[in-house]
Amino acid sequence: MVGEASLALRYVFQPGLSMNLSCDCRNLQITAPMPASVTRCNCGICRRYQALWGYYHPDDVDVVIGISGSTLYQRGDREIEFVRCSECGCVTHYQTLPNDPDPLLAVNFCMAEKPIDDVPIRYADNASS
Ligand SMILES: [Zn+2]
Repeated sequence: MVGEASLALRYVFQPGLSMNLSCDCRNLQITAPMPASVTRCNCGICRRYQALWGYYHPDDVDVVIGISGSTLYQRGDREIEFVRCSECGCVTHYQTLPNDPDPLLAVNFCMAEKPIDDVPIRYADNASS
């Protein structure tokens, strides 16, 4: 889940540079600023998804959901929901629930349309969650 270390990093991105991301069938499309780093988390769900997260305020990210729609998954304490394509199943992002006073949107950079080899990976140790 979202630890304090990742909260501190979440709005750090590279001004002026953005990245297009999409699920495999392109039904879900995201445009986000290039993150200064991406986070590989070893908590129960992130290690299963093998996601690389970049953290944002939702206003900083464009999410377009196509005609096939998206499917939401709320886990555990139900403070966040994971979003996957209803067609191809790729997990593109997670977000805080509506009305959260401290909104967060985490983009899965494994969905990037270009390699992000130049973006450093941060490792978050949340194996107990
Ligand atoms: Zn898809």
